Amino acid sequence: MIIKSVELETVCGITSKLPENDKSEFAFAGKSNVGKSSLINGLLNRKNLARTSQKPGKTQTINFYNINDELYFVDLPGYGYAQVSESVKAKWGKMVENYLKKSECLKEVLLLIDIRHDPSKNDKDMYDWIVYNGYNPIIIATKADKIKRSQLQKQIKAIKEGLKVKPGTKIIPFSAVTKQGRDEIWDIIEGANDN
Ligand code: GDP
Repeated sequence: MIIKSVELETVCGITSKLPENDKSEFAFAGKSNVGKSSLINGLLNRKNLARTSQKPGKTQTINFYNINDELYFVDLPGYGYAQVSESVKAKWGKMVENYLKKSECLKEVLLLIDIRHDPSKNDKDMYDWIVYNGYNPIIIATKADKIKRSQLQKQIKAIKEGLKVKPGTKIIPFSAVTKQGRDEIWDIIEGANDN
């Protein structure tokens, strides 16, 4: 896909009404620091569009990026900050769940997992929760440049087993440094957008 324009069109907080978009949406979920901003920036060939390394306590929002007036990237707030209070976690949950339930244009959910680590309980909960809401997430194994090639299959297996993914679930290694996986992710997004 040739990126002609990218615009951060809508930022939703807990009390905001979700936009009624009429183009396909692709949502990105993952715990904070997993490389979500770097993935979005990498897919869009931008350096600093999505905010990198959010600090805990920063406002948690759902950000809608309009790409070429053709589709939306939906950046879901990162989860897994140990420091945040239960009430903030509950608000986060409501906001994301509301989005997963209500969006009529959501085509795919991409769930990011750091390729170096076994999925955490938060990751497993998030995976189950996405499935519960009717989606079969595509797993993006981030920071692929940080492991040796010989470790790749072992780590993918650990992610598969840790999340107990459904058979046929796609797991795509991605590196924001080498751009490994970028074309494959775009192929999936464009394929789903055409349907
Ligand atoms: P976010 O909190 O999920 O948005 O994560 P960021 O995109 O801000 O990335 C967190 C940290 O990991 C930053 O220091 C990034 O530079 C680093 N990072 C993200 N993706 C990659 C990658 O593919 N390879 C390497 N080596 N570092 C990465």
